[in-house]
Amino acid sequence: MSKPFVLVVEDDEAIKNLISITLETQEYKFHTASRGSQAILEAVSHNPDIVILDLGLPDMDGIEIIKKIRSWSTMPIIVVSARSMDQDKIEALDAGADDYLTKPFSIEELLARLRVAIRRIHYYQSEGPQQNLHFTNGDLKIDYVAGCAFLKDVELHLTPIEYKLLVLLSKNVGKVLTHNYITKEIWGSTWENDVASLRVFMATLRKKIETDSTQPKYIQTHIGVGYRMLKNE
Ligand code: CA
Repeated sequence: MSKPFVLVVEDDEAIKNLISITLETQEYKFHTASRGSQAILEAVSHNPDIVILDLGLPDMDGIEIIKKIRSWSTMPIIVVSARSMDQDKIEALDAGADDYLTKPFSIEELLARLRVAIRRIHYYQSEGPQQNLHFTNGDLKIDYVAGCAFLKDVELHLTPIEYKLLVLLSKNVGKVLTHNYITKEIWGSTWENDVASLRVFMATLRKKIETDSTQPKYIQTHIGVGYRMLKNE
């Protein structure tokens, strides 16, 4: 895959120019849209690889755009917004966004998030989690059929919940999953104490798969929001 085609949805001219110049210097192909209606039209007609989306648009809320795009596409959506409350991030992620960046942001951070999105596209194109019976990510391997996981070819002793968590994260590699989403998938509910249990299970899972807990390779925490599995080479 050559450099991906990015759709930038942003009504603030200064930020739109900043993102455009950055993409240009990195040789990304891109289109821009300032209004929600235009963004949807662009997404339908040009089928971009990645969308960078502002939430506060003059004619539409960005959340609506995420929901519309998700009705037909899994293209990575990176939200770039001034809304910085956890609840705003959770709403965007639960609507189907992959990632969330709060304004003001650094160009390096935006480029890093784009690279995560690209690895996610590559992973889905080359292997695709659905048709695959195995998952490989760096030293981590999961055998979905046998229901076991390995680190450096040594079998991990996981509890059933830890294993379910690991599988859920692996099937959404590169994507930030909210606490609500995870607890609903694992326990079928979103009670507050499930979120507390989730933290405990996540801590024990990480102890088993991360060699350095201060620099996690596999599971990234988004404080107050959720978790993401990172794709390692
Ligand atoms: Ca805006």
